[in-house]
Amino acid sequence: MVICYIGVGSNLGRRRKNIKLAIKLLAALKDTRILKTSKIFKTLPCGGPAGQPDFLNAALKISTNFSPLVLLKKLKKIEKELGRSAGVRFGPRVIDLDILLYGDRSINSKVLTVPHPRMFKRDFVIKPLSQVL
Ligand code: AMP
Repeated sequence: MVICYIGVGSNLGRRRKNIKLAIKLLAALKDTRILKTSKIFKTLPCGGPAGQPDFLNAALKISTNFSPLVLLKKLKKIEKELGRSAGVRFGPRVIDLDILLYGDRSINSKVLTVPHPRMFKRDFVIKPLSQVL
């Protein structure tokens, strides 16, 4: 099992419910366990179109047997299930699931960058992540 950290965010619809549902779907994945869940933080949108609603953000510590790419696929599937459609980059979203850290791996592929490139500068990642490290 590998220890991973996942960022969860929502700024559309019933945000708290979306986050809780995403966590539930993650917990239901085969060979994946949720070890710690941060509190849910309210954060200001960072970049993207002006005037979009505030975000709610959380972070999870999980253990998984999925490879990084399979884990990414599973996260995307959960995003889809929760009704996320392709939209404006950094724009409003029902749910956003990011792989922040995957063990001690450093990954730079076309579809996946780990550690997550935007995680270090962003309060909305650092605050919840610091609760589950
Ligand atoms: P986003 O709009 O933030 O959901 O980003 C969408 C795309 O970012 C996904 O389709 C992934 O291929 C790519 N991506 C790159 N690195 C990561 C990562 N560490 N976690 C999640 N998505 C990533």
